Amino acid sequence: HALVAAEAGVEDRVAEASIRPGKLDEIIGQSRVREQIQLLLQGAKQRGSSPDHLLLSGPPGLGKTTLAMITATELGVALRQTSGPAIERSGDLAAILTSLGPGDVLFIDEIHRMARPAEELLYTAMEDFRVDVIVGKGPGATAIPLDLEPFTLVGATTRSGLLTGPLRDRFGFLGQLEFYEPAELHTILIRSSSILEVELTDAGAAEIAKRSRGTPRIANRLLRRVRDFAQVRADGVITEAVAQDALALYDVDNLGLDRLDRAVLSALIDSFGGGPVGLTTLAVAVGEPADTVEEVCEPYLVRAGLLARTPRGRVATGHGWIHLGRTPPQGGGS
Ligand code: ADP
Repeated sequence: HALVAAEAGVEDRVAEASIRPGKLDEIIGQSRVREQIQLLLQGAKQRGSSPDHLLLSGPPGLGKTTLAMITATELGVALRQTSGPAIERSGDLAAILTSLGPGDVLFIDEIHRMARPAEELLYTAMEDFRVDVIVGKGPGATAIPLDLEPFTLVGATTRSGLLTGPLRDRFGFLGQLEFYEPAELHTILIRSSSILEVELTDAGAAEIAKRSRGTPRIANRLLRRVRDFAQVRADGVITEAVAQDALALYDVDNLGLDRLDRAVLSALIDSFGGGPVGLTTLAVAVGEPADTVEEVCEPYLVRAGLLARTPRGRVATGHGWIHLGRTPPQGGGS
């Protein structure tokens, strides 16, 4: 599923470094969040103080890390990057916080996955720029307050609802990132192609954009794969036909479904008459664990309007039948 996964792989991390927008006005789409952040940063800069802490939420690959990096660049300060799962003990977090310079930006990805003691340490750090370091154990333990430099926390999470109330309340700004429209992905692809020095026609960009699941990371990844194909099997130019042939070879269909997504949909339709069928039964039919089907395939099948989750089980929608080239049953199939 790696080609259309929204999470970053190792190859993405390397490749993305060169195509990541470096300034707010290079960000394409997300106009609301971009304008809000612009105001927040400008206001703080004019006052000569640090802006409020920012919480960015949204599915992977939509630009949260990019916005955190840009926040530091626009403020002219250093960025320190970590993630919730990487902070195992509150001492780990205390060490990071005390090493920050005045005004620095601390980016914590997957902030909802931070251990509770570390999260509690973060409360006073965010509010009063202070941490209480516990020295010693048992009844003799004492809390030594340590002052921190003022800093700006940028937290990222897939859904803001995953955060505890006390943590969420300490952010002054909540930005919700949305999936991108094909036209926005088209613009992102044109920009990326010029950085990668590959020739991409408008129709070629449109073809990749509509298969990118609303996600810039996926768009850029597909562009890199199509570039290989254009270079090796064609004359290097990514036209509509080259994009179509390349993505057919990589098993990414015209809605951005890969082989596994289609296997789920076709099992639902061909083996279970379009449903309703339980998740476990459906998963057995495609030979995958139930959580892979539920967490990897279904979210996009649902968003694309091909599959519905109902109290009685999974159901293929009329669109789902049509996408696989079948005729929906009388009554619409959904
Ligand atoms: P997240 O942190 O939400 O998973 P990233 O910030 O790492 O996502 O973005 C993934 C990639 O997508 C980046 O390398 C960047 O090149 C690209 N990207 C994301 N948002 C935009 C945007 N608005 N405009 C242009 N490129 C973007």
